Amino acid sequence: MKRILVTGGAGFLGSHLCDALIARGDFVICLDNLYTGSKNNISHLEENEHFNFIDADVTALDGLDADIDEIYNLACPASPIHYQHNPVKTIKTSVLGAINILELANKYNAKVLQASTSEIYGDPLEHPQKESYWGNVNPIGVRSCYDEGKRCAETLCIDYQRQFGVDTRIVRIFNTYGPRMNKDDGRVVSNFIVQAIKGENLTIFGDGGQTRSFCYYSDLIDGFIKTMDTDQSKTPINLGNPREFTILELAELIMKKVNSKSSISFNDLPSDDPKQRRPDISYAVSKLNWRPSIDIEEGLDATINYFKSIL
Ligand code: NAD
Ligand code: UDP
Repeated sequence: MKRILVTGGAGFLGSHLCDALIARGDFVICLDNLYTGSKNNISHLEENEHFNFIDADVTALDGLDADIDEIYNLACPASPIHYQHNPVKTIKTSVLGAINILELANKYNAKVLQASTSEIYGDPLEHPQKESYWGNVNPIGVRSCYDEGKRCAETLCIDYQRQFGVDTRIVRIFNTYGPRMNKDDGRVVSNFIVQAIKGENLTIFGDGGQTRSFCYYSDLIDGFIKTMDTDQSKTPINLGNPREFTILELAELIMKKVNSKSSISFNDLPSDDPKQRRPDISYAVSKLNWRPSIDIEEGLDATINYFKSIL
């Protein structure tokens, strides 16, 4: 039985990852400071003898000395409103968190998978984004605490690999959605679904012409585990669904699916909001034989049902 540490394990993606690993027969240590995560996401695992929850901050892991085989490092607020709330804390979480995790991995000869992000490409000048693209990131903007923190975490993973031989993998996650997103999370899919169900205006930032590509969580978790389990890729790997939508198209699709009487309101575009984003996943296809299987119709239906059940 593998012993696996999942940081950020009480969050949206982390809790689904804990489920998948336990279902596979692993022992999971879930570490989270509950900043944006919730115990509700893992309450069904609390009695499981193969699950252990530690309420701790990844920036201060002094007390943690657990013999582990693998670490998935997901701890970090992911929604712009949450990561901009305390930007200094956000960058500490990425940078100090990565150092602590990599030190632990070096000590126990554990493999590490770092949750990186499409945000490391910034407002991309290359489209779609390939792993070889270095990005277009503002180092001093409101998103920088997240973007630069994640870029530095990637650097640390590669340098611990080069300098100490730590076995690291990096996944660059493109916008992922699904059940267990926090209803107040602020990200676009959850915002629009909650607004459509409540009959409130859907809040489009800017003119809605900016694009994103949305991946359903189960495809992503499958990609995480495949990346950890292969020795084929020690360099960053894009994981996401390449089908691209404008934000206006997404709003219209969600209103249609919810059969909502909501209207759309157009609001100011936050600064440095990337204008376009779509992953080139050819590297994941060739190295992992991974590609998403859930299309947006199916994924949105399941997510809408989830939000209807909790609202
Ligand atoms: P989330 O906010 O639901 O999960 C983040 C988890 O990390 C939460 O449980 C939170 O409490 C925990 N956390 C935050 N700071 C911590 C700290 N200092 N110490 C311990 N725990 C801490 O968001 P998510 O969507 O599940 O994101 C998980 C990871 O995936 C993040 O690293 C995020 O950057 C990355 N990611 C997600 C997406 C996406 O679309 N969902 C896209 C790109 C990258
Ligand atoms: N967005 C929006 N309305 C919202 C929330 C977000 O129009 O209520 C836009 C946001 O400006 C961005 C896109 O949707 O262009 C995706 O935003 P999100 O916060 O989900 O993710 P990110 O910007 O990090 O990709």
